[in-house]
Amino acid sequence: ISRGKTNKDKANRATVENVLDPRTMRFLKALTSRGIISDFNGCISTGKEANVYHAFAGDTISPFEPKTHDSFENLVNTYDPYSNPNNNDTILEPRKEYAIKIYKTSILVFKDRERYVDGEYRFRNSRSQHNPRKMIKIWAEKEFRNLKRIYQSKVIPVPKPIEVKNNVLVMEFLNRGDGFASPRLKDYPYKDHNDIVHYYHTMIVYIRLLYQVCRLVHADLSEYNTLVHKNKLYVIDVSQSVEPEHPMSLDFLRMDIKNINNYFERMGVAIFAERIIFQFTISETLDNFNGNYSNEDDLRMYVKNNLPLKVPGKDDAEDEIFRSLHLVRNLGGLEERDFDRYTDGKFDLLKSLIAHDNEKNFSASEQYNFEDNTLSNDDDDNEDDISNS
Ligand code: ADP
Ligand code: MG
Repeated sequence: ISRGKTNKDKANRATVENVLDPRTMRFLKALTSRGIISDFNGCISTGKEANVYHAFAGDTISPFEPKTHDSFENLVNTYDPYSNPNNNDTILEPRKEYAIKIYKTSILVFKDRERYVDGEYRFRNSRSQHNPRKMIKIWAEKEFRNLKRIYQSKVIPVPKPIEVKNNVLVMEFLNRGDGFASPRLKDYPYKDHNDIVHYYHTMIVYIRLLYQVCRLVHADLSEYNTLVHKNKLYVIDVSQSVEPEHPMSLDFLRMDIKNINNYFERMGVAIFAERIIFQFTISETLDNFNGNYSNEDDLRMYVKNNLPLKVPGKDDAEDEIFRSLHLVRNLGGLEERDFDRYTDGKFDLLKSLIAHDNEKNFSASEQYNFEDNTLSNDDDDNEDDISNS
C-alpha cells in the first residue's frame, strides 16, 4: 500500500503503472479527463483476476472539490484528503475517495468463470464469450450491474458504484478514516464473542435479503469479500453473483452457506444447519415472523430467536445428504433416480425445500447442460464433496 503523505517516489509510481497495459491506461485517462477521477494512488489489493487501486474523485462528481490540477502523466502520489491544489488557505470538505477495480487483461483465470455468465438470463445474448477482451468487459459490467442493483435496493450496504469503462470499475472507497481501506471481516478485530455472533447472523440475513430482495446469489460470499465499515457489514466482489434463475444458483447458494458456516464455526460460533439457512433464504414467508421482510434488524432478531441451532450428530448427517443433492431449479431437469441414489427416501425433504421454485418452472435445462455441472472439486476443496464424484 502506498499511502505515504510525501510519497512521490517515481520508481514506486512506475511499478503501479507497469501492471497497467496501454489500453487500460487509455480508459483511466478518459475517466480523468471527464473529471470522474483525479489523483490515482497506490494499489490496495492485487488479486488473481483484478487489482484494486485508490483514487480521489475528479471535479465532475462533486462541485466542492478542487479542479483536477494534473494531467494523468503527472499524477501526484499523495494521500491527503484535505489538500487543495489551488488554494492552500481554503478549508475544504474531505475529498471523495474511490476504489478502482481493474480487471486483468490476461485471460487465463477467466476461463473457468464462464459458467457464471453461461446460462445467466441477463447475459444470454452476449455471446462474446470467446473473445477474452469482451469477456473481461462483460465481467466488469456484470459486477457494476450487480453492485448497482444491491446499492439501489438499500437493504444491504455495498460501496456506491460510480462508473464502469471496459475493464475499469470505479466505486466508493470504504476507508477507516485514515486513508486505509476498511478491514475485511477476516481481519476485523471483533470486540467479543457476541460481536462475532452478530456478524454471523448479519451474514445469514444478507444471504436472504440478497436472494429475496435483490434477486441475487453472491456465489463467492466469505470473510474475504465482506468489509466492516462504520460498524456495518459491507458486501463486495459481486462480479460472479447470479440471479435465482441461473441454473446453478442454488448450488452457489449452498456453497456460500457452507463457506460462511465453516468460517464462523472456526470462530467458535454455534451455527445453524446448512439446510436450515437454505430454507430460511429461499422461503418467501417465514413462520411466526411479524417484522418487515426488508429490515435487517427484524430479520436478525428472527434468526437469533427462531432458527434452531445445529444438533451435531443429527444435523451433520442431514447436511451431508443436503450437500450431495443437485439443487437445480427445475426438478424435471434431473432424473429421479439421481435423487433416489442420494436421498435414501428423503426425496420429499428436497421437494419441500424447493417446492415454491418448482412452480415457476424455469426451463433451465434447455439453456444449460446439467450433466457437466455437478459441483467440481476445484471450486470447493472440502473433502465433503469428494464422496459425490
Ligand atoms: P478480488 O476479485 O481480487 O477478490 P475484490 O473486489 O474482493 O477483488 O477486492 C479485493 C480487495 O480490495 C478487498 O478484499 C478489499 O480489501 C479491497 N477493496 C475492494 N473494494 C474496496 C472498496 N470499495 N473500498 C475499500 N477496499 C476495497
Ligand atoms: Mg475478493
